[in-house]
Amino acid sequence: MRINVVEGDITAQRVDAIVNAANSSLLGGRGVDGAIHRRGGPAILAECRAVRASRYPDGLPTGQAVATTAGDLPARWVIHTVGPVWSATEDRSALLRDCYANSLRVADELGAGTVAYPLISAGIYGWPVDDAVRQALSVLRSAEPAAVTEARLVLFGADTHAIARQVLDAG
Ligand code: ADP
Repeated sequence: MRINVVEGDITAQRVDAIVNAANSSLLGGRGVDGAIHRRGGPAILAECRAVRASRYPDGLPTGQAVATTAGDLPARWVIHTVGPVWSATEDRSALLRDCYANSLRVADELGAGTVAYPLISAGIYGWPVDDAVRQALSVLRSAEPAAVTEARLVLFGADTHAIARQVLDAG
């Protein structure tokens, strides 16, 4: 699987599946979640409600992933995953890594060839950007999916992208 790191807006990516840094309610939120629902239209929220009612009445647990339609977005699917809130006192990185791995597994099961990720947990949930990039790359680099041939990490804004470049350059 090829890994590309780009600056951009995930809602504009021409890929088979985009990953949403959702919250466990699956009912939409701020940040990238808000942008995806805004640009994707009401079909995404309608399917989120149905998925929640039938499979996750208590909400989608942190680290897990579930797919819906991508509505009006260029992608075919949105894969919703719930990142952990950053903690300075507790190591929650296994849950963050689960988000990348489980989203990739869902994409692979759907037969998606290309998947774009935002930097999960690195916005409202407060994860330090450099470590968030390191965790993402380490999971994606060791993955061996059957269908997915490209994973794209989409960094929002020049500052976040610059930090990601530094992490990449440092190896
Ligand atoms: P979380 O609650 O998991 O921290 P956020 O949506 O607050 O989720 O932030 C996750 C990352 O997504 C942050 O780096 C934020 O800058 C970025 N982001 C926000 N909007 C977009 C977008 N339209 N495309 C890609 N990334 C985005």
